[in-house]
Amino acid sequence: MRFTRREALQRGVMLGLFGLSLPLAISTGCADADVCTDPDLLSTAQLSMRETLQFSESSPHGPQRECAGCQFFTTGADAGACGRCQILQGPANPRGHCDSWAQRPKFGRRVMEWGVG
Ligand code: SF4
Repeated sequence: MRFTRREALQRGVMLGLFGLSLPLAISTGCADADVCTDPDLLSTAQLSMRETLQFSESSPHGPQRECAGCQFFTTGADAGACGRCQILQGPANPRGHCDSWAQRPKFGRRVMEWGVG
């Protein structure tokens, strides 16, 4: 495949911007990040836990079973930002998932149930 000089320049700029934005997303936990963890920054124990629990940055079970809806997840700066997981003891993607996923309690509904009873 051959590129004109203009196309090569445009592609080079796009790759450069991607190369700059990925580490920034990892380090700042920016909104809607695709990856919240740099494995090089995790301890052996943290890496082992992620592997054991089959953590993935994107839930294979869809949005119903994402980290954002898990009781062990602490939300980041905003809903789409990287947060933290109590089980993994480190950063977690709101769209991620692992085998320890547990439904976050729905307090609003429980309050209504208590009010009736
Ligand atoms: S326990 Fe698993 S599913 Fe729940 S927040 Fe942590 S990594 Fe996500």
